[in-house]
Amino acid sequence: MQKINQSIVIYKYKLYNNKAITIVVHEPGQVWKEAAISEFAMCDGLFNKEKAMDYINEAYKEALKCSKSDDVPVGAIIIRGDKIIARAHNQKEKRKDPLAHAEVLAIRKASKKLKTWHLNDCKMYVTLEPCAMCSSIIKEARIKEVFYGAKDSKEKGISNDKEITSTCLNHEESSLIVKRFFEEKR
Ligand SMILES: [Zn+2]
Repeated sequence: MQKINQSIVIYKYKLYNNKAITIVVHEPGQVWKEAAISEFAMCDGLFNKEKAMDYINEAYKEALKCSKSDDVPVGAIIIRGDKIIARAHNQKEKRKDPLAHAEVLAIRKASKKLKTWHLNDCKMYVTLEPCAMCSSIIKEARIKEVFYGAKDSKEKGISNDKEITSTCLNHEESSLIVKRFFEEKR
């Protein structure tokens, strides 16, 4: 059982394909009820929505930095335990480097910090669904789990990759910032 805030306590969860699909919450004065959480995050078997949203907001702060370089606004962070160990934003245009996606830069920073490319006790939060290249590199770095703010319908992204546990957090700002970027380009 895990206390999320004053009013909501996770009582139990079910696993399906390694993802929590339902939780039972208790709000004081109400009966136990079941809520679908497929769109939300799971933290070490227990789900903590507030914390997941805090992390995706941190990734979003990184995405905002892309406005300086005319890069597609995508931000990523890597966490270990509950500590943020790397932050990065897309710098493809700024660096003139097709590999400089936010996820790749964050993986490089985390590897440097931990002095190993084995990031198997780390999780990634990224504002936009990782592309196929980043999905491969995430696997290469052995990152355990990925949470992303918005789906990328154009890309063959991480949601199609059955080897990685990934969860879309439906973070509205993450989606809007990319939409606005491409609208301004037109
Ligand atoms: Zn990518």
